[in-house]
Amino acid sequence: MNISEELGKIRRAFEAATEADFTAEELGKLRVAYLGRKGIVADLFDRIRDVPADERKEFGRVLNELKLFVTARIEEHEATMRSKKPKENVDVTLPGIVGFQGGLHPLTIILNEITDVFRGMGFTVETGPEAELISYNFDKLNTPFWHPARDLTDTFYLDTPARDKLLRTETSPVQIRVMERQKPPIRIIAPGRVYRSDKPDATHSPIFMQVEGLYVDKGVSFADLKGTVLAFYRGLFGPHVKTRFRPHFFPFTEPSAEVDMTCIFCKGSGCRLCKQSGWLEMGGSGMVDPNVFLGVGIDPEEYSGWAFGLGIERIAILKFGVDDIRLFYENDIRFLRQFG
Ligand SMILES: [Zn+2]
Repeated sequence: MNISEELGKIRRAFEAATEADFTAEELGKLRVAYLGRKGIVADLFDRIRDVPADERKEFGRVLNELKLFVTARIEEHEATMRSKKPKENVDVTLPGIVGFQGGLHPLTIILNEITDVFRGMGFTVETGPEAELISYNFDKLNTPFWHPARDLTDTFYLDTPARDKLLRTETSPVQIRVMERQKPPIRIIAPGRVYRSDKPDATHSPIFMQVEGLYVDKGVSFADLKGTVLAFYRGLFGPHVKTRFRPHFFPFTEPSAEVDMTCIFCKGSGCRLCKQSGWLEMGGSGMVDPNVFLGVGIDPEEYSGWAFGLGIERIAILKFGVDDIRLFYENDIRFLRQFG
């Protein structure tokens, strides 16, 4: 085999070797094997001196061509390899992804409004435990042992060792806790979650929110209650609102009354939402029962007071035009985003 044939063979071997895919490491080795200082090409150049003088020029030309071919092919592979590296695909013309911005839950919005109105009238905010002692939820609130609210089917009793706790059915126990530790004058509201084992439907939820108000001082009258409740509803719904009080029974208060507000949809003329009555039921209220005062060590001869309780969902439903109480607790983001 003469040297020209040998060059042809080397070229074909190189071509065959570079048909396949490489790893970066294999390609590096190939470059060293062919183009390195002691590689095949360098070795061939060393052998030029062994070539007969008349063939040397031609051999040099073919060898140079081989070197250029090998170099070009290896560089081509290196370029392919670089282009396969993962690179960032950024289309700067695409609209950006806007981060989701959180907002206040509709019940929190209403609660903040309620709190603002009462703070403006000199009330402070108090809270108490949701897992409450049975005695605070019923006995100290003058709830007789036969009262249906105590029923197992209405109340979530907790399986504690002492069997003395439940999930509070109203926020009224907070009033007891405040009166036990604080002497009058007392002027507080107590907002919070309460629990009753109601089957969920559009108007019932086993969990809901109440806000409780309590005012105790010397000479507090039912007229104070009416004035405060009216000012509260006007603060929330506007100056056109009127209220009325209907006699009712609550264990905690005597006398007791349910509070109605003029329908905010028909302004009192009668519509479907107020069942043509022109009035909406809003909550319960009354003068604190003397028995309750005696239980917390306040002298009912010296002090008097009133209390009221109302549902926060009821107000949210009216203000936002929501027709199902369950929406406030399902926390569907499509619902919540309409408020924040
Ligand atoms: Zn109406």
